Amino acid sequence: MSFKPANNIQDLQYFGEFGGVNPSISDSSTYTFLSAKTMFDTFEGNADGCYLYSRHTSPSNLYLGEALAAMEGTETANVSASGMGAITPVLLQLCQSGDHIVSSRTIYGGTYAFLKNFTPRLNIATSFVDITKLDVVEAAITKNTKVLYCESVSNPLLEVADIAGLSKLAKQYNLKLVVDNTFSPLSISPAKLGADIVVHSLTKFINGSSDTVGGVVCGTQEFIDALRNVNDGASMLLGSTMDSLRSASVLKNMRTLHIRMKQHSKNAHYLAEKFENDGLKTVYPGLASHPSHELFKSMMNDNYGFGGMLTIDVGSLEKANELMELMQERNLGYLAVSLGFYKTLFSAPGTSTSSEIPEEEQAEMGLSDGLIRFSIGLDEDIERTYNMMKECMVELNILQPELV
Ligand code: PLP
Repeated sequence: MSFKPANNIQDLQYFGEFGGVNPSISDSSTYTFLSAKTMFDTFEGNADGCYLYSRHTSPSNLYLGEALAAMEGTETANVSASGMGAITPVLLQLCQSGDHIVSSRTIYGGTYAFLKNFTPRLNIATSFVDITKLDVVEAAITKNTKVLYCESVSNPLLEVADIAGLSKLAKQYNLKLVVDNTFSPLSISPAKLGADIVVHSLTKFINGSSDTVGGVVCGTQEFIDALRNVNDGASMLLGSTMDSLRSASVLKNMRTLHIRMKQHSKNAHYLAEKFENDGLKTVYPGLASHPSHELFKSMMNDNYGFGGMLTIDVGSLEKANELMELMQERNLGYLAVSLGFYKTLFSAPGTSTSSEIPEEEQAEMGLSDGLIRFSIGLDEDIERTYNMMKECMVELNILQPELV
């Protein structure tokens, strides 16, 4: 694949109004017009380059949106106050009462809860399927289906979606394919593989400093205009707008995303190989044992690796909790939800980020009690980290000491 997402970001240059190397931050919620006619035209969406009110958009939000659109290879993008603030308006924009969504069953718990518990109130139904089986996905499509929804690499089970295959189905049945690419920025470019709309939680790798929540929708100009329409746009009317000061800071962090992703991937790959070698049940898309390893390879852009997320299964929730507490005590990372931080983060998804999913359904999808999800940090000396993690596991009888 010749798509170069990091080059596309770097090729965008914006200067501040006084020649600053960063664009000036727009510090206004509202904007003046020299003529009343231009204000009217802006309301109607017919005055390009004019700003109306910052819930609609702001110069800082546009700068960040354009950088994210360049990364994903879409016409444009709209940033939002959180990842959920990107996902929920997209689905509400695409679906009306009576419509149906086919979604992967292994998705972020908040998205799952929205589809399972909230959208039925609006008479929008969802079928949750094993997204890795295209025949199962196709069988779930009904005459009311409008959207296929998945994550490129799923939270927390790290299942990989065949985006090109899903896109073919979407085209065949006239559906929109919406892909959450939060776990694999730069590595995978869903729009290049046929996704219609790509969403991210910017809270994670893209911002990378665990200091804010944020989200983005990347898509066609037509769709983003529809989301922002003052009369019936879900983003405009639901109001999950990112603050300009925040978008300026996320844009600056994005400048180092390519370097960070390489290091996250390198470290996660190293640990995954070691853990697997030690006999731990390890899931990482970079391992040959991952059921979708070849698929990931066929979709990935050069240089960014298989991502910073891996899981291990230590057998029971009790063991998982003991291990996480000990690793935190030894300063190997934090027992915290979320991902994409400089420091390793770990959590047991069954009782945290996926707790919205009922226990029987967790079992059905393979989400076991002893599963620990790791977001691997930017550690300079990952061998040292591994040795210290291994010591913790030996102390807790998860691993046997080396026989020498
Ligand atoms: N999508 C994925 C894959 C996530 O992991 C998360 C959060 O954990 C979200 C979306 C929601 O993003 P936010 O917390 O920024 O609303």
